[in-house]
Amino acid sequence: MSSRVMPLAALSLLLLGCAHAPPESVTVNLALINDFHGYLQPNPALFGQGQPGQLVGGVANVGGVIDHLRQQDPQTLVIGSGDLIGASPAVSALWADEPTLQAMNLLGLQLSAVGNHELDNGKAELLRLAHGGCDSDRPAKACQFEPHWQGARFPYLAANLLDAQTGKPLFPAYRILTAHGQKIAFVGAVLKELDQVVAPKGLVGLKVTDEADSIKALIPELRAQGVDAIVAVIHQGGTSEDPGRDCHDLQGPIVEVVKRLGPAVDLVASAHSHQAYTCHVGRIPVFQGGAYGQLVSHVSLQIDPRQHRVTRVQVENLPVIPRQYPADPQLAALVARVAARSQAVLERPIARLGTPRLEKGVNSAGESALGDLIADAQLAAARPLGAQLALTNSGGIRNELALAPGQERLTYAQLFSCQPFANRLTLIDLTGAQLRELLEQPWRRDPVEPFQVSAGFTYAWDARRPIGQRVVPGSVRLDGQALDDRRIYRLVVNSFLADGGDGATLLKAGSNRLAMKITDLEALERYLVQQDRQGRPAGQGEPAGRIRRQDG
Ligand SMILES: [Zn+2]
Repeated sequence: MSSRVMPLAALSLLLLGCAHAPPESVTVNLALINDFHGYLQPNPALFGQGQPGQLVGGVANVGGVIDHLRQQDPQTLVIGSGDLIGASPAVSALWADEPTLQAMNLLGLQLSAVGNHELDNGKAELLRLAHGGCDSDRPAKACQFEPHWQGARFPYLAANLLDAQTGKPLFPAYRILTAHGQKIAFVGAVLKELDQVVAPKGLVGLKVTDEADSIKALIPELRAQGVDAIVAVIHQGGTSEDPGRDCHDLQGPIVEVVKRLGPAVDLVASAHSHQAYTCHVGRIPVFQGGAYGQLVSHVSLQIDPRQHRVTRVQVENLPVIPRQYPADPQLAALVARVAARSQAVLERPIARLGTPRLEKGVNSAGESALGDLIADAQLAAARPLGAQLALTNSGGIRNELALAPGQERLTYAQLFSCQPFANRLTLIDLTGAQLRELLEQPWRRDPVEPFQVSAGFTYAWDARRPIGQRVVPGSVRLDGQALDDRRIYRLVVNSFLADGGDGATLLKAGSNRLAMKITDLEALERYLVQQDRQGRPAGQGEPAGRIRRQDG
């Protein structure tokens, strides 16, 4: 008997010994999403995770991926990197993005950095969304999905976003989460160039300070609390030419921020540029998981618990492919409910049209009847703020506007499918010379898509002329007057173009920028309703001849 007891006693002593000496290495897993933008439903693949156009993402499938990670490690920490809401599709936007935050609650999100789009509707509305309540300047949307909005169950973090009056942070700067006995500090920050990407109205009462300085200032406080790892979650990003591998070529504003953070930070979760990469800046891993719930970033931190030190970091962007893992049932039920509720709103009739069909297809000069209408609607919305002309991109017009036989009025769903991006209108000053140069930019791209322009603005081009000089000299006119190179013109464009999208890089050089609160979709709806009420339904069957082509 005793000969049997002895080894057992020895074994239990050995086990006890193990329990007291910390292991050499502990792995902590993180799951992160950035720039989700309310994409509750699957949407076309953008990051090579499927055939172009294949539907990927969808919050129930994001939940499926995270559930899978939790099966491997139940203590996986779930983190957001900002822009969870804002610039969202109708199913979320119709309800002030409350269903998206509800989905984040169900996902078990534990914290998120504040993104610029969280501030789209200003400080008070973000605080309402975060903490709950129905006192909103968007009464048509707030608390309409649920009778009382309960708020986010996770904290928003921002070390560098201050209340301008009190000088105090609007949200906590950091949170320390524990997994497998390890204390992981997450410090949030939002890009300091907020004034370039948020309408001034959204920033009233707020002050933003430098990302790196704000994070660095917290390091001693975090160290004093004995944290094992420090993760900076920064809503700012970059781009890589070689994002598929462990890249070292990251470009863009996040790079300077990381360089200035120094070695006290173990890992940087970046965002905002809607890129997928797992790079290093110096020795610090910096990554981003695309956008719209199409990827989940899975991070494994290896920690030496005796030295409270991260010894290895592995990052992988996991594609969110429907049916790869079982969809999360609670999230699937929420999405089904939102879709059903949204349907009634989407079927709402808006306005009559001046013609049964407005096509997005362009004539040989590159002009479309629908482009004319959209530019006119944007000018009408921005004229009270001094806009003289509107320019829009054909690529942003996603669907025609057409009445079915017997249909009297366009529905909201039809308008939404035409202008789905919720791009805010943006006013920009350009000199006449810059404006002429801007008109040339489409010919540097393939396919060439000349800008659609509002009534009163005309120009001609000639394919026989060299690239960079396609626009016929003297042909650019505003309200009958030839363009004056030295005069300042005030344009309205959508925010995508304003940020240099579709090759319109010259717009980034414009001055006196003003991001309006109204979106392209809202401007279109407002214009169609106004014209209809005045008995002159908008839109005509053919392009108005604002763009002319001189060859052929
Ligand atoms: Zn952003």
